[in-house]
Amino acid sequence: MLPSIKDLSYAELCQWLAQQQQPAFRAKQIRDWLYKKHATDFNDMANLPLTLRQTLAENFRAFTLTPLKTQEASDETVKWLSQLGDGHTIETVLIRTPERNTVCISSQVGCAVRCIFCASGKQGLLRNLSAAEMLDQIILASRAGGRLVNNLVVMGMGEPLHNFEQLVAALKLLCAADGLGLGARHVTISTSGVPAAIRRLADLQTPWNLALSLHAVNDEIRAKIIPPAKRSPLEDIFTACEYYTQKTKRMITLEYVLLEERNCRPEDASRLADIAHRLHAKVNLIPCNNDSGPCQAPDAELCERFLKLLLSRKVHATLRRSKGKDIQAACGQLRSQTPTGKSARGVAAATPAPPENSRE
Ligand code: SF4
Repeated sequence: MLPSIKDLSYAELCQWLAQQQQPAFRAKQIRDWLYKKHATDFNDMANLPLTLRQTLAENFRAFTLTPLKTQEASDETVKWLSQLGDGHTIETVLIRTPERNTVCISSQVGCAVRCIFCASGKQGLLRNLSAAEMLDQIILASRAGGRLVNNLVVMGMGEPLHNFEQLVAALKLLCAADGLGLGARHVTISTSGVPAAIRRLADLQTPWNLALSLHAVNDEIRAKIIPPAKRSPLEDIFTACEYYTQKTKRMITLEYVLLEERNCRPEDASRLADIAHRLHAKVNLIPCNNDSGPCQAPDAELCERFLKLLLSRKVHATLRRSKGKDIQAACGQLRSQTPTGKSARGVAAATPAPPENSRE
């Protein structure tokens, strides 16, 4: 499998071009095509000599994704199933509203965290995505909209902070003036809570937004939602989040999937309000998106009641209306699969039925 051209730094690209007896200014031309014009084929790079285009194509891939299937939901949300160079598949979602286009990208194939409501978790971790594979999802969605998306959430398949180096490399290129050029404040990284990685991210002091997928107000309840292997104690996560806020001055969002009979009692709302106040965080409530399996969404009335309890405690809270549910594009519904909709690995099919949620 050829490497992606996006894996080369600017200096490395200049060096490669020098080996081909090409002037250094070609590097800027190539990066303009990749990041400003969202080119996915070296042949489209019209101001490069034909021989250089051919040599590039013999040595690199301009685009790492082969879209296999595109689905559009009744609310105009679009979901792509794409194949990677090694045959694995991932999903990417474009959420369109009158105000903005938000792309939700995957950071891994599958996920090791295995939250019980999540389709990605059912598959286990197959591998990390490269920075190029993450950037190419943004380019895929931007090409569909005819211009760069306004907003990025890393909430698709995978725990992004388990793929720290590649995630940061991708986001730096995304936000660089000579990269895709998206403002850092329009980027949100969603994590199930990896304290050491949250601290590393904080130390970069880049104003990316952080969303913590909390889902439970104490370790005992959380243990029934996130298996122990990749779950850290809440207190460690909270202190890391406080450090993040202190370093980046960004307000954290607490994502809270409402799961019937698991985490939505009035006392849970009260404790959640305490946590939100402690972390100076806002709360995003997400009714569980699957209608089958071990987790169900509470009825709409209970969701509203839970929201009102938070609001009565002066918490900045919203109840999210999930988009793209009819094409399995809502939070927690993304997974590796074949174009006909089968799970890409037997693991998922053999696992008893859990549902979905949280587009992490
Ligand atoms: S919700 Fe996020 S962290 Fe949990 S299994 Fe799914 S992708 Fe992984």
